[in-house]
Amino acid sequence: MTNEQIPVSVTTRNVVHIKALQEASRHLQVIARDAAHGRYLVESARDSGQHYEVALHSGELAGHCTCRWAQHGGINCKHVLAALRVAYAGQGTLSFWPTQDAARRQHRQVLPGERLFATLRTRRA
Ligand SMILES: [Zn+2]
Repeated sequence: MTNEQIPVSVTTRNVVHIKALQEASRHLQVIARDAAHGRYLVESARDSGQHYEVALHSGELAGHCTCRWAQHGGINCKHVLAALRVAYAGQGTLSFWPTQDAARRQHRQVLPGERLFATLRTRRA
């Protein structure tokens, strides 16, 4: 596990990256295998017959995925974002942001994650 800082120069690219991933994650089918333990199956964007296993970290905006990108050290892949969206569906709609400042500008509850922040738009009862 590394805990390196993200250089400021990549922030803009990261914004696009997170928003593009968020958009891509919206279209992925998610199957809750063991939601109580954060276990989900998320379909591959390229091959809908293939699914990756996502294990969310309890109480965090982070998780492990079996896709190739995640195996090579990538984090916050679209499969993890898709699983997070489903995991929080009972509470509201998640939006992902690359920095805490960007999240705070939304004036909503901010959930910190691994190089990732999210705001939660809660459902009205
Ligand atoms: Zn993945």
